[in-house]
Amino acid sequence: MARDPRYDILFEPIKIGPVTAKNRFFQVPHCTGMGHAMPRALAAMRGVKAEGGWGVVCSEYCSIHPSSDDGTPSTSLWDESDVRDQAIMVEAVHAHGALAGCELWYGGLKTGNPITRDIPLGPVSRPVIPPDPVQTRAMDKADIAAFRGWHLAAVERALQAGYDLVYVYAGHGYLPMQFLSRRFNDRSDEYGGSLENRARLLRELIEDTREAVDGKAGVVVRLAVEELEGESGLTADGEGRALVEMLAELPDLWDVNISTFDNDARTSRFVKEAAQEPYVSFVKQVTTKPVVGVGRFTSPDTMVSQIKRGILDMIGAARPSIADPFLPKKIEEGRPDDIRECIGCNICVINHALSSPIRCTQNPTMGEEWRKGWHPEVIAPKANDDPVLIVGAGPAGLECARALGRRGCEVHLAESTTELGGRVSRETKLPSLAEWVRVRDYRVNQILPMPEVNVYRDSHLGAAEVLEFGFPRVVLATGATWRRDGVGRANRFPVLDPALAQVFTPDDVMAGAEVPGPVLVFDDDHYYMGAVVAEKLRDDGLDVTLVTPAGVVSAWTGFSLEQHLIQTQVLEKGVEVVTGHSLSAYDGTTAELACVFTGKTIERSYGAVVTVTGRHPNDALYHLLADDPAALQDAGIKSVTRIGDCNAPGVIAAAVYAGHRYARELDAPEDAPLRRFERAAV
Ligand code: ADP
Ligand code: SF4
Repeated sequence: MARDPRYDILFEPIKIGPVTAKNRFFQVPHCTGMGHAMPRALAAMRGVKAEGGWGVVCSEYCSIHPSSDDGTPSTSLWDESDVRDQAIMVEAVHAHGALAGCELWYGGLKTGNPITRDIPLGPVSRPVIPPDPVQTRAMDKADIAAFRGWHLAAVERALQAGYDLVYVYAGHGYLPMQFLSRRFNDRSDEYGGSLENRARLLRELIEDTREAVDGKAGVVVRLAVEELEGESGLTADGEGRALVEMLAELPDLWDVNISTFDNDARTSRFVKEAAQEPYVSFVKQVTTKPVVGVGRFTSPDTMVSQIKRGILDMIGAARPSIADPFLPKKIEEGRPDDIRECIGCNICVINHALSSPIRCTQNPTMGEEWRKGWHPEVIAPKANDDPVLIVGAGPAGLECARALGRRGCEVHLAESTTELGGRVSRETKLPSLAEWVRVRDYRVNQILPMPEVNVYRDSHLGAAEVLEFGFPRVVLATGATWRRDGVGRANRFPVLDPALAQVFTPDDVMAGAEVPGPVLVFDDDHYYMGAVVAEKLRDDGLDVTLVTPAGVVSAWTGFSLEQHLIQTQVLEKGVEVVTGHSLSAYDGTTAELACVFTGKTIERSYGAVVTVTGRHPNDALYHLLADDPAALQDAGIKSVTRIGDCNAPGVIAAAVYAGHRYARELDAPEDAPLRRFERAAV
């Protein structure tokens, strides 16, 4: 299909200093959890982005020197071996006509240097921001000179690796920003005091970099123009603006955003598309240089509007490029409805914090491009004509059907209810989760026009029906059900009588059960569900207490950068929060809470308990079938496989991945290597 002319502006080339980007799609730097540990996997992933049409593809943050090490496998340019690793990535990006950008990084107060054990350096001597028991050394003149030398050496290595764009990175609260900020810079020398003084280091870095690139690469300055810290930080109408005015024509491109990372990469629970516009819209008014910014852009109309209204020149994207590496191509080919839109869940961010390879809820191939040879848009045609029956149309079943359909397999997808989507359809009716419905909508929109995929709603299947159909391949994607007995991490034995009318689960709440108040929500799951259920019940007007054995609400969401926002929201809604306690008993009126440290108990009266601890896989159908191989053989069924929550309850990303994996591996030869690993060779 031809491109809609409305979107032509997105495909206009743009000069960035001495180099030219072929279009306006700019994959801004983003972490991958692969970094220096998995250079081949990283290169393949970035190469797929370039293949998908991004005009610029950047690295993740790239440490310039061993004295900036945050303990994660990010990239680095410390020596020649790093140059070789990075060159593979640059080559993969260049192979598809995109520019490669390198984000040179120095953490300062934000790194404890657990791997290298170098003393961290900062504008001042303070405890580092991660809770490592170490302080920075305040940089003296010799340290500043050394730092500039390291930065310069890294610029030269970036050029050696073939990069077209080199970043001076004063964003996300890292060292150059620490110098800019009154909060972290109380120096009395020429690097402290007035804004001009605090900006001295940044100006020097830009000038050094410009001299070193010597017209061979563009110089990008990434600046957080707003910190959401009021007057103690940079503000878009105060020092953030003054800084851009002061340095306006020095870079070849301004990459502007808000700081810190948790503000920049907010989840869809808290912000929508283009949320940074109010903060960055001034930038183009004070510089003639091109400007890139982010806003979890997935709508081509919003992108066009950003450019036409003079907000941005280039559409920056990290998460939308992860969820759909082929987003630009899909717009270019006139099929924007095929875009797999990011849902803003930040599962992709979690893996950086966990030092494990990136994954994505929407894009199951993310991070698997080299390891499993998976491509987001290409999948091998079927190897045989065996039809596949999939039972259950949640994220696992839907993705399995979609991917099998793309392979040309005959698929029969049976769903008990009238609505497709499983847990996604149910959960997205809870407060703030609405955007996650894209997991369902993308797949349903893809499947419905496929002649290979037959969808049956209102079709609850038992073992007899499955055997009667006799489709050779059976996939059970029947999901999971929240437990009623309070068993989870803190309680290893039941503490609730599931028969009590006053005991509820998230499934009951999502099904619209009338929950009497006051209600105790016991969250031993630690992801989003406990807090979301508490919010919903509070919105319904009930008095709600959220009890968790953890030290904070939704503890695991610290990794997705939203824990503090969730806890603030819960408290602001008037939910009472009790941390460090487990629910140890409830008789329908009185709940006993036990301190997880001392075991000391307290008693409180509640009209109901909602228990959010763990889930039972809905695997009864699987066992009925798998435990009767003779019946399967008689029916001509070659395999019965459970996937997703029915196999092991987990996050939505895991269910999507399981569905995709089944489709990929269905007819792989027994001895086919299904994955490979990068290991340091001796
Ligand atoms: P997952 O996250 O693994 O995809 P979900 O719980 O989201 O699991 O989805 C499971 C889906 O399977 C639900 O929509 C449910 O209605 C459906 N389902 C469960 N058991 C059956 C069955 N026996 N026949 C048909 N559909 C079923
Ligand atoms: Fe978007 Fe979630 Fe995928 Fe990250 S993991 S890119 S936030 S859908």
